[in-house]
Amino acid sequence: MKTPAEILASHSVVDADTGCHNWTAALYHNGYGMTKVRIGGRPYCRAHRAAYVLAKGEIPEGLQVDHLCRNRRCINAAHLECVSLRENVLRGNGPFVVNRRKTHCARGHPFTEQNTYRQPSRPERRLCKTCRIEDGNLRRTKECNSLSQRGG
Ligand SMILES: [Zn+2]
Ligand SMILES: [Zn+2]
Repeated sequence: MKTPAEILASHSVVDADTGCHNWTAALYHNGYGMTKVRIGGRPYCRAHRAAYVLAKGEIPEGLQVDHLCRNRRCINAAHLECVSLRENVLRGNGPFVVNRRKTHCARGHPFTEQNTYRQPSRPERRLCKTCRIEDGNLRRTKECNSLSQRGG
């Protein structure tokens, strides 16, 4: 009998350009890979969720597995991340692929050289310095001045 990992591996091919592990067996109408494996006694019917659980462990309650590469066929655990539903909706178009052509952050600040930073652990993701500063200011304001929250 094949292990879940073997089943997933035998039904996917690596795309050398993107690093995506594209599911080659049946797909759901919404584009996710269809499978039927049991991991730790639990059944999984979506290939990417099974791949995530195998590589990274249980999906926390209430969280969704999101594709950083926006390729729903992909089951590469490195391209998968657990997010809350809200976060997933807010992202709309994920950071991974879209960042390359995106010129502004979610709040409309330009991704110029000076305004962009990256975490060494997540070099594919551009982060907005202005947002970080604003978030920092906001936090400080809340801490120091919690009585006057009204602002302009
Ligand atoms: Zn991928
Ligand atoms: Zn920003």
